[in-house]
Amino acid sequence: MDIKIIAEMEKLIGKAGVLSSEEDLAVYSYDGTFEEHTPDLVVLPESTEQVSQVVKIAAKYRIPIVTRGMASGLAAASVPFSGGIVLCLTRMNHILEIDLENRVAHVEAGVVTADLQTAVEKHGLFYPPDPSSIRHSTIGGNIACNAGGPRCLKYGVTGDYVLGLTVVLADGQILKTGGKVIKDVVGYDLAALFTGSEGTLGIITEALLRLTAKPKFARTALVEYDDLADASRTVNAILSAGIVPATMELMDQTAIECIEKAMQLGLPVERAAVLLIETDGSDEEMVNREIESIAEICKKTGAQYVKVANDETDRVNLWKARRSVSPALARLSPNKLGEDITVPIQAIPEAVRRLKEISAKYGLPIVIFGHAGDGNLHPNILFDKRDPQQWAKVEKMVEEEFYVALALGGTLSGEHGVGKLKRPYIEKALGSVSIGIQKGIKQVLDPLNILNPGKVLPD
Ligand SMILES: Cc1cc2nc3c(=O)[nH]c(=O)nc-3n(C[C@H](O)[C@H](O)[C@H](O)COP(=O)(O)OP(=O)(O)OC[C@H]3O[C@@H](n4cnc5c(N)ncnc54)[C@H](O)[C@@H]3O)c2cc1C
Repeated sequence: MDIKIIAEMEKLIGKAGVLSSEEDLAVYSYDGTFEEHTPDLVVLPESTEQVSQVVKIAAKYRIPIVTRGMASGLAAASVPFSGGIVLCLTRMNHILEIDLENRVAHVEAGVVTADLQTAVEKHGLFYPPDPSSIRHSTIGGNIACNAGGPRCLKYGVTGDYVLGLTVVLADGQILKTGGKVIKDVVGYDLAALFTGSEGTLGIITEALLRLTAKPKFARTALVEYDDLADASRTVNAILSAGIVPATMELMDQTAIECIEKAMQLGLPVERAAVLLIETDGSDEEMVNREIESIAEICKKTGAQYVKVANDETDRVNLWKARRSVSPALARLSPNKLGEDITVPIQAIPEAVRRLKEISAKYGLPIVIFGHAGDGNLHPNILFDKRDPQQWAKVEKMVEEEFYVALALGGTLSGEHGVGKLKRPYIEKALGSVSIGIQKGIKQVLDPLNILNPGKVLPD
């Protein structure tokens, strides 16, 4: 990067917030995927005003800007393939206000999601979105990807909690959209437009987030199956009975074995699949009744055993198991590639069957787990990237996974977004009319194409 531009940035942010050494740049060159590319400069602003000034300089010199939270993304969306500036918001990590009466949190984009949850729970409040990366992802990143998590089934995704945003636009203007009101239908919903835009339309610097009351009681059950298809069918049976649990998480046998090997929690490694089901609410008796009804339905749909957690330690262990699927799989093979296709609920059994067929066809394991309650599955292919033949197979398998989702009326991603990795498939998923409209939106908001170029939309 030109020394003059570095000096301009240092004057603006201070030397501590501008990184240009080879070692520092390497640290900001990757995300949660296999992809990497070194940026030319890393800038760590501390305020919306600083972000705006940085963007003005970048626009003047036509330098690409890739916004980054904690880089836990799984679509290579924060990897700076065109070089330029990585704008990392982790120093903007202040909770500015927890408005108890309106149940709204006002936060900077770099706040770690788990930190917000802990802070609001001290006041008996609840911020439900719970990506498994909760301890190493930011609110800005969650909004930019519209992150979900196990609790989406009952509580919805990140976007359902966004009331307002402060966004720095591609020319440095500061946009404030939305507010503390619950209902607001004045004009187009710009907060919704920036939610899920993966840093391609603007830089989110602050957010107003809706909070709810924290449910006082929760019951959790681990349901064991000898047939994966029975577990998938159970999901629909529970929802059809009019019960909406907080979570319904599916794990297949390989996932169970991996976690057990890593953590020794006493999981049933001989079973083909388990469902982790949690129900919550403010009335203890109702929560108890609900978990009993769920247990009965599970038995009717083929469950071999239903273990309801007796106490909080039991419950915490079950969740520890679910949250460690991803890291535990990493111990099983040198590499894993996790997707997050979504299908309509009734198509889950067929999706699982077809995914296993792909695995058999190419001779590489596909471990299946995910948020079965909302049809969002994470098929993880296990392989060794050092073997070019395996990598070639993986690329074909991923494509076939996407086609399974689309053929069943589903889509490419329920939570990780498009980034660079799913970009080749987006037109097939959305159609040319939708892509045309989206390109028009990008052109209006970022005419110089400096915000996260080469992501989401095809050329
Ligand atoms: C182990 C593991 C488990 C995961 N589990 C889940 C899960 O359950 N659910 C789920 O949804 N995701 C999950 N993810 C994916 C990832 O954690 C989420 O996508 C998360 O929202 C990314 O947040 P981040 O702060 O790390 O963003 P980054 O990875 O840094 O960025 C992601 C994208 O958002 C953009 N961006 C970041 N901050 C801003 C901002 N302030 N303004 C504008 N654009 C911005 C970036 O440019 C990039 O396009 C998981 C990842 C891992 C590694």
